[in-house]
Amino acid sequence: MQFHDSMISLVGNTPLVKLNSVTAGIQATVLAKVEYFNPGGSVKDRIAVRMIEAAEQSGALKPGGTIVEPTSGNTGVGLAIVAQQKGYKCIFVCPDKVSLDKINVLRAYGAEVVVCPTAVDPEHPDSYYNVSDRLVRETPGAWKPDQYSNPNNPRSHYETTGPELWEQTDGKITHFVAGVGTGGTISGTGKYLKEVSGGSVRVVGADPEGSVYSGGSGRPYLVEGVGEDFWPTAYDREVTDEIVAVSDKDSFQMTRRLAKEEGLLVGGSCGMAVVAALRVAEGLGPDDVVVVLLPDSGRGYLSKIFSDEWMAGHGFLEEAGPSARIGDVL
Ligand code: PMP
Repeated sequence: MQFHDSMISLVGNTPLVKLNSVTAGIQATVLAKVEYFNPGGSVKDRIAVRMIEAAEQSGALKPGGTIVEPTSGNTGVGLAIVAQQKGYKCIFVCPDKVSLDKINVLRAYGAEVVVCPTAVDPEHPDSYYNVSDRLVRETPGAWKPDQYSNPNNPRSHYETTGPELWEQTDGKITHFVAGVGTGGTISGTGKYLKEVSGGSVRVVGADPEGSVYSGGSGRPYLVEGVGEDFWPTAYDREVTDEIVAVSDKDSFQMTRRLAKEEGLLVGGSCGMAVVAALRVAEGLGPDDVVVVLLPDSGRGYLSKIFSDEWMAGHGFLEEAGPSARIGDVL
């Protein structure tokens, strides 16, 4: 019989897929690491497994305990699946701007979701930050993973994503490109690839224009899951060789092209990372192998990026900027 013991053992070992259309005119091989093949649909399943297992080993999370984390997105889904399989409860805290669909996904997996008002100061007792801290204090057996400072976030990528890429490319990878949110993916994967290649793999971060990683102040942008207005400790500045800033418009136009031309229905941070990867690949030769990591699926963005009305309403449907035109047949 061939079966997996539970969904947990399906986390990781995601495929690499060559990009064939958006790369027109580029000599280097550009490969996408497609993370929506994880059971929870995103790269965050990897960190959920590693953070929970480490907390079990250290005793921070005890049998029957409760995981409390301020998250509404992919990390919540990963934590909810692993927690459910291991007998833990989950309470997620999210701001009221989060779509009901996202909240219902977390509830479907059995998590409790506490929704907080966005329109209050961070110091207000009902704020997102204060509610999650209070829940940690008041819930018996509570443990907060805190993906922004938890070393097991980058470690999970050092132990899984990095070795997978080295093996899948037969050691031929020359460039690794990933979006930066908490920084866990790029720091852990990049550190491993640099070590194993003797420093020859170039690590490039993709960042929304306005975020701190590319020198911004945290100014708002619409791409979800990437960019920050502070420097998380999960991000290791030593690992990244270069940061490429990408606009919302370029990110979303590329996201739509990936669905239409490559059969990849992925999220907006994936389009952003591909724009950065193509900018890197443009100057490279036929022996170069650029790997770009695509964190999640496009299913969660159907009423935004994949809606013509939404795109037009933000002025994103107008003629593409120069970077989004990479690979277009002119
Ligand atoms: N894209 C999406 C959709 C995400 O949810 C995240 C995680 N915040 C990232 C990219 C960035 O990954 P990391 O936190 O590892 O930097």
